[in-house]
Amino acid sequence: MKQRLSGSRLARYWTPFNSERVECTLCPRHCRPKNNRDGYCGVRGAVDGALHSFNYGKSLAATEEVIETEAINHYSPGARILSMGNIGCMMSCSFCQNWETSQIKHLDQQLVRDYSPQQVVDICLENRIEIISWTYNDPVVWHEFVVDTSRLAQENGLKTLYKSAFYIEEEPVNELIDCIDIFSLSLKSMNPVFYQKITKARLAPVLERIKQVHQSRRHLEISQLVIPELNDADEDIKATAEWVVKNIGSEVPLHFVAFHPAYKYTHVERTSIDTLLRARKVAKQMGIRYVYLGNTYRMDLNDTLCQSCGATLVRRYGLAAETVGLNEASRCTGCGEMSPITNPWGGRQGSTILGGHKDLQRSIRFLWNAEVQSAHVMRTDGNAGDDKLRIRRIGSHSVTEREMQHGLDRFIVSRQGSEDKGIVISWDSDKQYQFFPVLDRAHFPVSSENQERIIPIKRVGT
Ligand code: SF4
Repeated sequence: MKQRLSGSRLARYWTPFNSERVECTLCPRHCRPKNNRDGYCGVRGAVDGALHSFNYGKSLAATEEVIETEAINHYSPGARILSMGNIGCMMSCSFCQNWETSQIKHLDQQLVRDYSPQQVVDICLENRIEIISWTYNDPVVWHEFVVDTSRLAQENGLKTLYKSAFYIEEEPVNELIDCIDIFSLSLKSMNPVFYQKITKARLAPVLERIKQVHQSRRHLEISQLVIPELNDADEDIKATAEWVVKNIGSEVPLHFVAFHPAYKYTHVERTSIDTLLRARKVAKQMGIRYVYLGNTYRMDLNDTLCQSCGATLVRRYGLAAETVGLNEASRCTGCGEMSPITNPWGGRQGSTILGGHKDLQRSIRFLWNAEVQSAHVMRTDGNAGDDKLRIRRIGSHSVTEREMQHGLDRFIVSRQGSEDKGIVISWDSDKQYQFFPVLDRAHFPVSSENQERIIPIKRVGT
């Protein structure tokens, strides 16, 4: 039997199958585990004739990121989010970008923390974060905790975001539609054989569930990881764009996201910028209005332009976004045309801009490179109270200060422009901080081995 997480609680979405087995009805896989056996995802299984969830409240470290990490460009650009990632997955993609935590047989249990719904909401409130994002590993297999916490979050005035490959049944999606504000759904390919062979799932239910969310009129954006030799041909891109236009409309943003070699798919290079540009051209020719290219760090690639006068509404570089041409009613400040952006000024507060270049007593210095242009900064000696950090950008003369409030000890930093060459994080306390390289957006880095290999780090006073 595979490793199990400690603790369990009765799951929703199951029925008795026979005297020996129960049937899980949460995702289309419909596993029928025997007593003391688990379903395919490894986080739900049969206990005493009932289906139990083993991952309620079990999460990777709560991490502050920005909404752009989730392939959401048309809702509160630049908003800070609290990313919550579970463990286990109902799929098994050979190219998985988060395989160390999605495939439970590879899980290091030391990464797992326990949260209650109230604790997650409190972290947001104390750190003035307005959006909770269910992300990294697929939240489908975390359904009970996601729904309970999302309901509580909305009662407390927070918004909720769900990033998923969406291999899930219809009834639980209805429950999600009631408590999720923003959906970022991943459509991996339009080829049913791709789904069967590469993801170990089926395409048809994914398409039906995407249509279900679209019909609910919740905020929806679609992303597709573009993987060399798997789904990067013009025909693949055309098929995706054609389905989107026909079934959910040309106004839904479509993100083509660069892949990095991972898990069992390591014989190819990262997706090239030329491939992404070609994908964008094809999708635009097919009628998609807003096409974005993820995991790219270049000016003028991902801006949102006014469809009437062509003015720049939102300027983007990598994960950084700046609302430059919108008023509070979400209209173009140039011509007054309504934009597609919801809540254009939401969720930004958090850092204080400082003058001067002085670092604090202890520091870590890190230079961006071709592989790594964003990173998680993590307090590694336990989450012991509040702290203040100073963040200086090498080359751009920007210095900001941010507070780490109780409950939050991990946050993302990313390259903000071509003049931003690197970053110095400094602090005065005796706490310890460490960088974890983020290789893709929605990637939760767990390893420090790569860090030693690819990141030049200079520690001063630690
Ligand atoms: S959620 Fe897990 S246990 Fe349930 S059907 Fe899907 S893979 Fe199987």
